[in-house]
Order: sequence, then C-alpha cells, then structure tokens
Amino acid sequence: MYFLGIDIGSSSTKLIAIDEGKNIVGRTVVQLGTGTNGVSRALNMFYTDTGLKRDDIVMVVATGYGRLTFSSADYQISEISCHAKGVHHVLPDVRTIIDIGGQDTKVIHNNDTGGIQHFVMNDKCAAGTGRFLDVMSKVLDLTLTQLGEVDAKAEHILPISNTCAVFAESEVISKLAEGHPIPDILAGIHQSVSKRVAGLVRNIGVHPDVALTGGVAQNSGIIRSLEKELKCNLRIPIDPQITGALGAALFALDKHQSL
Ligand code: ADP
Repeated sequence: MYFLGIDIGSSSTKLIAIDEGKNIVGRTVVQLGTGTNGVSRALNMFYTDTGLKRDDIVMVVATGYGRLTFSSADYQISEISCHAKGVHHVLPDVRTIIDIGGQDTKVIHNNDTGGIQHFVMNDKCAAGTGRFLDVMSKVLDLTLTQLGEVDAKAEHILPISNTCAVFAESEVISKLAEGHPIPDILAGIHQSVSKRVAGLVRNIGVHPDVALTGGVAQNSGIIRSLEKELKCNLRIPIDPQITGALGAALFALDKHQSL
C-alpha cells in the first residue's frame, strides 16, 4: 500500500510516494507546472521509474497552485498545510518556513506538531519569487543550476534599484552594457530577492529554527544572501523542492488511517 502526494506548482510538478512507515518509495520532479502536460508527464515518469501500478496507490492528495485542476485526487489540501507538514516531518525543530516557488513566496510560522500558527504570502508580483530569478538568469545567459556558483565569485554586490521585474531586467541589461562583472550583477539580483523575502518574513517574525524550501532553495547564492538579510542560519531540507508533495503524501497516509 502506497500513498501519493502531488504538488502542482506554477512552474513544476512534484510527486512523492510513501509507504505505511512514511518511507519515500518514489520521487519525480518535472519542471513544468499547472496548465501544461507536466502532470501527465510526471505521472508517466513516476510509474515507469518506480515500477508501481495505479492500483498500488490507495490514496492521492493533491496540493499546490494547480491542485483543483487534478480531478484524480482523493483530496485537495492547501500548499500552506502541506509545506508545514512536510517540513515538520524532515526538520521537526523548524518554526519558520520560507518557501520560494516559481510564482509565490510564502512564510509559515508553524507549531511543534507541524500545525500552522500564521502565514503570509507575497503580493501578485514577480519580485521576491523564482520568476524574477528565471527572467534574470536568461538575461545573464546562465542556467538556474549555475546561479549559486557564479554568485560565489562576486567581489562586490551591485545593488539593483528597481523592484519591478520588468524594470529590473532593463537595469541588468544596462549594467551588462556598462561592462560590470556578471557575478557582481548576480549578487545584486540575489540581494534584491532576499531583501524582498526578508521583509515578508519580518511581517510574522523570525522564529528559530528557520528553513528555506521550494525550488529556489537549491540556489546557494540566495541562501547566502537571505542568511545575511535575516542574520540567522537557514536549514535546508535534503530535497527542498519536494516538501509540499511530501506533506501531501503524509496527509494521504493520515486520511487512509482515519478511515
Ligand atoms: P512552484 O511550486 O511554484 O512550481 P518550485 O518550488 O518548484 O515552484 O520553484 C520553482 C523555482 O525554483 C523556479 O522559478 C526557479 O527559479 C527555481 N529553481 C528550480 N530548479 C532550480 C535549481 N536547480 N537551481 C536553482 N533554482 C532552481
């Protein structure tokens, strides 16, 4: 018997299957989100990679921005609840979760059982989200996986004064044209995202331990600059992009056990 969590985000689809002992038995991430064929691709990859059959899965919980579009789920649960549950499972001492995804950034203050005390989300704006970094990485001709190592070469942080992604993109192009080094420009981009996220975190307070999750938590440049802005160390789960899907899989197990 297996329990499936599926997190359908704005830019990626994440699947996690667990067994009755809460062990992860399958993991699939496809960098395509809601409104694309990312969900069907992720499911096909998941069944091929794990060798599991649909009948092996006894309960499915969907979460994320696109959860309501996935009609095959037994339950749909908000990403706030699923992130809190997933992070609590892997890092039980964490009380503040900062999740930076493709389209939104959320900060969750949870309690010692993984329940939610408060949460805040960014306004509808790309600043302070993965989308801002996606746009900037294209302008700098870097892949997402290069962002951390290139940032580490910065000798100075070149601040970006525009918060709006559209204006900030023009500003970055001007800085490139002026001949500034790419690592310094990138460090300024990371600082801009971190300042925005830190402002959101301060709205509900920094309750230690603090974890960073979401796809952006794979960017060591953001980890460094956010730690500087918040003046605290961040805890990063081993696989930070899948904590919402893990929480959904844990909810699927709970639902089955409460039947
Ligand atoms: P969502 O749940 O909203 O779809 P994710 O939590 O999957 O979002 O995060 C997506 C964001 O993560 C992307 O916009 C991108 O900026 C960032 N990202 C994805 N993969 C990587 C990576 N390997 N290194 C750095 N950043 C990444």
